[in-house]
Amino acid sequence: HQPKPGHEWAIEPAPLYDAPFYIGSKKLDGKTALITGGDSGIGRSVALFFAREGADIAIVYLSEDKDAEATKAAVEMEGRRCILIKADVSEREHCRNAVAVAVEKFGRIDVLVNNAAFQIHSTDFAELTEEHFDTTLKTNLYGYFHMAQEAVPHMRPGSAIINTGSVTGIDGSKALVDYSMTKGGIHAFTRALSGNLIEKGIRVNAVAPGPVWTPLNPSDKEAGEVSKFGADTPMKRPAQPEELAPAYVFLASPQCSSYITGEILPVVGGY
Ligand code: NAD
Repeated sequence: HQPKPGHEWAIEPAPLYDAPFYIGSKKLDGKTALITGGDSGIGRSVALFFAREGADIAIVYLSEDKDAEATKAAVEMEGRRCILIKADVSEREHCRNAVAVAVEKFGRIDVLVNNAAFQIHSTDFAELTEEHFDTTLKTNLYGYFHMAQEAVPHMRPGSAIINTGSVTGIDGSKALVDYSMTKGGIHAFTRALSGNLIEKGIRVNAVAPGPVWTPLNPSDKEAGEVSKFGADTPMKRPAQPEELAPAYVFLASPQCSSYITGEILPVVGGY
């Protein structure tokens, strides 16, 4: 659009870093994404959806038991490159190394997905130990902070950071007091950092999932019982990880969300 004569824009429209209207093309063609906890649950699904949209993937994983190799194989089946980087995101040095390895392989980071998290259910507040509290904070808050600070110098205008928050960071969960506290912090971090990085052309958003059927939630059902997990949502069920991943594609791709930053997107089954 051109302004009408005499109605010039006060500010020139910003450059569009990617052709945003090529809807139908791959949404992340040629991009590189680093995903923490990309070996399991939501992160694994995000890795596969990103690969289908044309991105190469660096997966940061912590333990061997989640089968990071299977995720790598699935990404490669989509014709994309994938590297696995073992790291504990609560350790600054590990984060620095993870970013260095990804940048050495791919040259830059276009999308950082801060997603790895620690959670233990504990209905009795008095039972929460300091050690448990430390691990929750160090993984969920320090981890996101370290990864973002290490990655930003390698991100160009048009890049995006997506933090996995949680509905517990909005409403709080009585069985997850410390975890809820960190998720609320992640939402505030998202809003604050978005303003801080706006001049660099880096967008920062969060996805706030409701209940999702992943290994993070131990099964609550005894043999023969029906699980109550997710029953309090209007949809009366938890999400599958694949129902979260499209929200990450949307927030990662300048084709979809070039004018969206600092937002918390709930994916909560109407909750
Ligand atoms: P998940 O257990 O499948 O994935 C969590 C991942 O984080 C795992 O790969 C785990 O190894 C990794 N991780 C944990 N501590 C780490 C550390 N110190 N360093 C590196 N990696 C570490 O669970 P998920 O449900 O897919 O969780 C993904 C994200 O979604 C988390 O941020 C979680 O808080 C959030 N979330 C999940 C739900 C849910 O109901 N599943 C709801 C709201 C938010």
